[in-house]
Amino acid sequence: MTGQTLPSSSRRAFLLGRAQSVSASTQPIARVAASCLEERGTSCRLCEDACDAQAIRLRPLGRGLNRVVIANDRCTGCGLCVPVCPVNSIRVDGLEMETA
Ligand code: SF4
Ligand code: SF4
Repeated sequence: MTGQTLPSSSRRAFLLGRAQSVSASTQPIARVAASCLEERGTSCRLCEDACDAQAIRLRPLGRGLNRVVIANDRCTGCGLCVPVCPVNSIRVDGLEMETA
């Protein structure tokens, strides 16, 4: 890439194309690991921006740290938040990402 950004609709289509649901037996829910940058003092919020369902919120922990919280009643398990995380802190049960 040369600094260009994809239109929002194209970016979402690309990200959705990388997410392949492998199990539809239960409602998949995103989970965030403690390796999240926001818990280590680095501002990020990329997953929050990527979530169309507005299921992601940041809860202040004090001292400039935040915890990413997933609202289970809003999360659709779409996986859009997974590939945008720069430190691979998000998983969605039953969802695998293409590696190619
Ligand atoms: S899986 Fe989809 S709905 Fe759930 S938190 Fe991630 S982006 Fe939002
Ligand atoms: S994208 Fe990853 S590092 Fe950034 S706020 Fe979300 S979980 Fe944390």
